[in-house]
Amino acid sequence: MIRRASDGIVSYQFENFNPGQVSHALYTRLGGVSEGPYTSLNLGGTCGDVPGHVKENHLRLFKNFGRPFESRFDVWQVHGDTIHFTDHPRPETQKHQPGDAIFTRNPEVTLVMRFADCVPILFHDPVQKAVGIVHAGWQGTLIEVAAMAVRALADHYGSNPKDLIVGIGPSICGNCYQVGEDLRKKFLARWGEKALDFINMKDDGYYLDLWAANEWILRSAGVMKVEQANICTAENLDEWYSYRKEKGLTGRFAVAIALNAGA
Ligand SMILES: [Zn+2]
Repeated sequence: MIRRASDGIVSYQFENFNPGQVSHALYTRLGGVSEGPYTSLNLGGTCGDVPGHVKENHLRLFKNFGRPFESRFDVWQVHGDTIHFTDHPRPETQKHQPGDAIFTRNPEVTLVMRFADCVPILFHDPVQKAVGIVHAGWQGTLIEVAAMAVRALADHYGSNPKDLIVGIGPSICGNCYQVGEDLRKKFLARWGEKALDFINMKDDGYYLDLWAANEWILRSAGVMKVEQANICTAENLDEWYSYRKEKGLTGRFAVAIALNAGA
């Protein structure tokens, strides 16, 4: 990962994405105006933060990203399997539609999603010229939403999985994400013995490795270029929000991606 800081805003980028073709950033919690548990670049509008602060944070983020705020397309992330292919930004007056994967081929659209432990999965297809973001918590991982996105990309844009460049962003790691017996059973029921590759048993219970599971899901769907951020949100509260570590009282960091015009 490449770390950048400007005007107090700190963000990371994957090394595999071609900066001439695609702009992307995984924004840390640094550089915003929110206070207390939301300190400071909180982009979550429904987690209890002051609405005016969230709005100001959005404006700062888009200025930093070098795109107009009006270019944004975002959704109401619900841990489901709805995939959106959009040709236009979301008008300010239009409510968020539910969804957990968003894609576009329009360079005038900036895709944005919010995270705090769930896995951000960024996509770039340099051949069909498309970008996207997938949101995968345990539910999205269990239903293999990342593989659904790969298949949907083939259907909608003619993307070949082997052309895709994919990044697995900061999220809770397999040493920190404790899960119960119920979840272990769900994964075993769906994936059989393979699930055991991603669920480790420690003295105090089971731990789910969302990073490795999603990389396996992607590679099984034919993706060959997968980069791991290897940054754990729960272990790095100075830069990231962690829903689990901060016991639900926290903000959401933003992930943004857009195609460059003319690239
Ligand atoms: Zn960790």
